[in-house]
Amino acid sequence: MIIAMDLDEVVFNIRDVTLQEINRLGHDSVIKHWSEWNTYSLIDMYGIPAKRLEEMYINKRILERGHAEDNASEVINRLYKDHTIVFVTARGWHPQAKAVTMASLDKYNIPYDGIEVVPLFGGKTEALRNIGDVDVFIDDNAGHVQDSIDDKTSKRSVVRTMPWNAQVDLNCARVDNLLEFETLIKEM
Ligand SMILES: [Mg+2]
Repeated sequence: MIIAMDLDEVVFNIRDVTLQEINRLGHDSVIKHWSEWNTYSLIDMYGIPAKRLEEMYINKRILERGHAEDNASEVINRLYKDHTIVFVTARGWHPQAKAVTMASLDKYNIPYDGIEVVPLFGGKTEALRNIGDVDVFIDDNAGHVQDSIDDKTSKRSVVRTMPWNAQVDLNCARVDNLLEFETLIKEM
C-alpha cells in the first residue's frame, strides 16, 4: 500500500519546543500548555503575528529540536518493509524544509520512499494527487484530512487525534498514537 504521512505531531513532536518558545515570548499567561490548544492556528490562539511566529520557528530551530513521537522509528521501519511510505509535510515555510526534514528522519532512523513539501497554507491535495493511488493518509490537521476526503486523494483518511482536532467531526478513523495506526494498517 501507499501510505502518506504528515510529519509534525504525527511522526515528530514539535509541540513541546513550540510551547517552550511561545512561553519565552511571554505568552504563558494566555495558555499554559499545548493540551489547551483548541484550534490549529497559533496565530488565532495567541494573537502572534504570522511573521513573528515564522521567525520564532526558524530562529529557535524548532524543527531541528523536535523529537520523534513514541514508537515512530519502530512502527515506520516495520511498515516500510511492506509498504511505500511518503511524508507529506506543510513545512514549506522553512527555507531548508527538505534538508532539515531529511536530517531529522536520519537522526531517528526513520525510513521513507519520498518527501513532499507543500506551503503552510497551500493544502495537501496537489501533493497527494502527485503521489497518486494513496491508500492511507494520516494527519493531525483536520483541514488536510477533510480535504483528502472531499477531494478523494486517498482511499482512506486517518486523524491523529490531538486537542486541536478532537472536537472536529470527521467521517474517518482516528488514532491516538502510531501503534494504533500500525494496527489499523494491518487490519486493512
Ligand atoms: Mg501535522
